[in-house]
Amino acid sequence: MNTAVVYNVQRFSLHDGPGIRTTVFLKGCPLSCPWCHNPESRDGRPQLAIKADRCLGCELCMPACPEGIAGPLDSRTSIHRPDAFCIHCGACAEVCPAGARDLLGEDMGVARVIAEIERDRSYHAESGGGVTFSGGEPIANGNAAFQ
Ligand code: SF4
Ligand code: SF4
Repeated sequence: MNTAVVYNVQRFSLHDGPGIRTTVFLKGCPLSCPWCHNPESRDGRPQLAIKADRCLGCELCMPACPEGIAGPLDSRTSIHRPDAFCIHCGACAEVCPAGARDLLGEDMGVARVIAEIERDRSYHAESGGGVTFSGGEPIANGNAAFQ
């Protein structure tokens, strides 16, 4: 496989190594450390994230969902997790105008990630920076494309 699930390419990272860096966050980690800073990265698959307080009640997500489970979110009920029947396809996130539904993680190939990193090349050169692969666990099996 020459792809892995990337959930963020963070520009202008100042705390992930020397200089100005581009940090590539990969999903997937076999550990369950109690101090984990990025628990949303543990599962190696793309996952739907819910931000109920952003919902506008527009109902655009309802017809988009193949499982018939998407709909307006009520922040008063503190729903922050997808329905148990969610297959994490991301169709509702694509049509949600408010970012109340967001698919964390996208299958990306090596060439595409390198193209993203290349955009920051001048910052790396000027500051003595570079690239940091983070996660998740970047050396986990599912991330072999970037090892
Ligand atoms: S991610 Fe897919 S299955 Fe899950 S709620 Fe959204 S549209 Fe429905
Ligand atoms: S599409 Fe987004 S804003 Fe509209 S009802 Fe669904 S979750 Fe709320």
